[in-house]
Amino acid sequence: MSEPQSNIIRTQAYIGGVWTDAASGKRFPVYDPASNDHIADVADLDLDEVRHAIAVAQGAQKSWQAVPAKTRAALLKDLYALLKEHREELAELVTRECGKPIREALGEIDYGASFIEWFAEEAKRVYGELIPTPAADRRILVVHQPVGVCGLITPWNFPNAMITRKIGPALAAGCTVVLKPADETPLSALAIAALAEKAGFPPGVINVVTSSNAPSVGAEFCRNPTVRKISFTGSTAVGRILMRDSAEHIKKLSLELGGNAPFIVFDDANLDKAVAAAIASKYRNTGQTCVCTNRFLVQDGIYDAFASKLSEAVGQLNVGHGLDGTTEQGPIINTRSLRKVQSHIDDAVQKGARVLTGGKPHALGGTFYEPTVLADVNTHMSITREETFGPVAPLFRFTTEEEAIAMANDTEFGLASYLFTENIHRIWRVSEALEYGMVGINEGIISTEVAPFGGIKASGLGREGSHHGIKDYTEIKYLCMGGLEESN
Ligand code: ADP
Repeated sequence: MSEPQSNIIRTQAYIGGVWTDAASGKRFPVYDPASNDHIADVADLDLDEVRHAIAVAQGAQKSWQAVPAKTRAALLKDLYALLKEHREELAELVTRECGKPIREALGEIDYGASFIEWFAEEAKRVYGELIPTPAADRRILVVHQPVGVCGLITPWNFPNAMITRKIGPALAAGCTVVLKPADETPLSALAIAALAEKAGFPPGVINVVTSSNAPSVGAEFCRNPTVRKISFTGSTAVGRILMRDSAEHIKKLSLELGGNAPFIVFDDANLDKAVAAAIASKYRNTGQTCVCTNRFLVQDGIYDAFASKLSEAVGQLNVGHGLDGTTEQGPIINTRSLRKVQSHIDDAVQKGARVLTGGKPHALGGTFYEPTVLADVNTHMSITREETFGPVAPLFRFTTEEEAIAMANDTEFGLASYLFTENIHRIWRVSEALEYGMVGINEGIISTEVAPFGGIKASGLGREGSHHGIKDYTEIKYLCMGGLEESN
C-alpha cells in the first residue's frame, strides 16, 4: 500500500498516518497548465473514505489537544525546517501544478513556510484571562480551547501557502485536520503531508483526502457533525454553499472568498512607485490571486501618464513556462478561465474601452495570454463587478476623492484595496473610508504572516495569519468559580 519514502512526491491520500489508495482503485489526472503534460494520477477517494478520514481525525483529537503547546510548537518548527530544506523541490512542484513563474513559486514556499514558523511561535501564546469579579466570592477565568476537527478546503492558486496558512494555526491551537486540496494541485498538498510525517506529527492529526468531486467532499464536511469548523479559500459562490450547508450544525466558518480590489492612483502619487506596485499587484500569478487588483481608479491629472508608463512596462513582461527562470508571467490555469478573461475584454472593448497593450491569447498558444492594459473603462462593463482573475488591468477615470471612494466601495466584495498618494491627510481619510479588510498604502504586495489577512462583505469571514489567526481555531470558555470563602 505505501509508496517509497525517498522524496516528497506522493500520489496516495494520507489518512491516519497511512498512504492510501482509493478502495475503488480510481485516480484522477494532474496536468501542467503550461505544457498540458500529464504529471501524475492521484487517488480519487469516495465519500466513505472521506468519512473514515474525519473519524480518524476525531480519534486523534483528544490526545493531540492534550499534547503540551511547547511540544506542538516543536513539531511545527521541525516542519518549518523541512519546508525550507525542500524549498526548491516544493517550488518546482507548485510551478508544475499551477504554472506560476519559479521565482514566484520560491516566494510562495517561503511565504507558506512562514505561517508554520509563525504559528509554532503562537502555539505557546494562546493566553487566557482572569477577569476582575463583581462578587467577592467568585473568580472569573477565560480559557481558549481547540475547536476540534477542522475540514480545510484550499484552492489551486497558492497550492502550498493556502494550506500552511490553515494547518499552521489549526495544529498550533490543538485541532486535528482533514484537508481537501484543489484537484488541480494535490501534489503540493501531499508533499506537505509527507514532510509533516517526517517531522513526526502523530498519525491522524493531519489527513489529506484527495478527490475529483469537490462538491461532495464539501457537503460531507458541512453535514458531518464531527467536523466542528470549516476553513475555506476559494470563490464566493462556493463559500455561500458551504455556509448554507453548515447551518444545520452551526459550524464555525473561516471563509476567504473573492475580491474586486480597487487600486486608486491620485494625482499626487509617486508615478514610478505606483506603476511598479501596479505590476506587482496585477500580474503576479497571471492575475490569479484574490488580492490582485481588479480595477485601477486613476485621477484625471495623472491618468495619461500612468496609462502610458504602465502599458509600456506591461508590454515588456516576459511570458513563458514557469520553469524557465526568465519568465515573468505563466499561463492561465485552464481554458474556462481564459474564456472569462477574453469575455471581460471583449465586453469592455465593445462598450468603448481601448486596448493599450495585449488583449488576445499569446502566440505561445495553450492558455498563455498577453498581459493586457485597457483604458477608458467605465462602470457599465462587466469587469467592474466581476473578478477577472487574469492578466488584465482596466483603467477607470475619476475626478474627486469622494468619487474615487464611492467607486471603490461600489461592490459586494471587500478583501484588498490599494491607494497611492503622497498626501498624509488623504491617506488617513481614504484608508478609513474604504470598506475593505486590507488596505495597501503606497504598497502593492501586502501579504505577510504577521498581519491579519481577510475580507469583509462577500469576501468572507475570519482572519488568517497574525495573532488573530490562531483564535479562529479556538472556542472561548468562561469558568466561574464561586463560593470562595474570605476567611478560614
Ligand atoms: P476557484 O475558482 O479558485 O477554483 P473554487 O471555489 O471553485 O474557486 O475552488 C476552491 C476550492 O473549492 C477547490 O479546492 C475546489 O475543488 C473546491 N470546491 C469547488 N466546488 C466546491 C463545492 N461545491 N464544495 C466544496 N468545495 C468546492
